[in-house]
Amino acid sequence: MQEALHPHHDNRSITVDDHILEFGNDSKKVAPPDRARCPICKQYLKIVSPSSPNTIKHFSHISGGGWCPAKEIAKNPYLGLSAKSPDIEMARRIKHAFAANWQRHYDKLRSLVPYLSLDEFTEILKIANREKIWYYKDINEGVLPYIFATLIDFTPDNSYKKSRKYWLCFLFDNTVRGYDDLWIYRDVPLKFWRASFSKMKGKSRPKLDDLVRITEVEISDDFLKGDVPLNSYIEKYVSDWLARNF
Ligand SMILES: [Zn+2]
Repeated sequence: MQEALHPHHDNRSITVDDHILEFGNDSKKVAPPDRARCPICKQYLKIVSPSSPNTIKHFSHISGGGWCPAKEIAKNPYLGLSAKSPDIEMARRIKHAFAANWQRHYDKLRSLVPYLSLDEFTEILKIANREKIWYYKDINEGVLPYIFATLIDFTPDNSYKKSRKYWLCFLFDNTVRGYDDLWIYRDVPLKFWRASFSKMKGKSRPKLDDLVRITEVEISDDFLKGDVPLNSYIEKYVSDWLARNF
C-alpha cells in the first residue's frame, strides 16, 4: 500500500515518501515503533523498494505475521464460505425485506461505491443468491449493503460510464474471516474499509502492491430510514430484474 497509519498517530495516515523523509530511507534500520502500521490489522509494515527507480515503493506486511484481510486481497477472502447453520425462515424474511426496500439498499451502496452501475448492482444480487447470503442465521437488513460491497470488485471498466478512477474492494476488520463472524461478540465496534487500487494494465486482479489507500467507512443502518427518490429508469430496470430473478 502507498499510504498507511502513521507510526505515532492513530488518526493520521502517512505516505511512503513522507515516512522516508521523517524516519529514514532504509526500512531495515527503522525500528518497529517508527514503522508505519497497517490501518486494518495495526501490524508494523516494511517499505519495499525504498530506493529502486524501477519499482514503485510501497508499504508491505512482514511475512509470517498475523492474519489480515488486506493480505488476502488477491483473492476475495469472503467468497465460497457458506453459512455454518443456515436459517431458511430467516432467508425468506430477509429476502422479502430486501425486495420491498431495494431502493434504500441501492442508494446506500452507491454512497459507498462511486459510479455504481446498474450492472454491478444486479451482479451483486446474483452473487448474493449464489453465495446464499440470505441464509446467515443472525443476518439483519442493516448490514446487507456492507456485505454486498464485499461480493465483487468494483473496477473502473464496469463503473457507470467508466468514470470510476480506482479499482475498489471492501473489507471488514480482521475479526471477520467469514460472514458468520459479523455477529460474534466484540469489545470494539466492527470496522469496515474501502481499499482503492491504482489502475493496472494487464492484471486480472489488483495486488496489495497496487493499493493506494484504505479508508474506513462508518457502519450504520440509518439508510433504512427516509425516502430515496430514484429516477424512473432505475426504478423500472431494477424492478423488472427482480421480477425475473428474485
Ligand atoms: Zn494488515
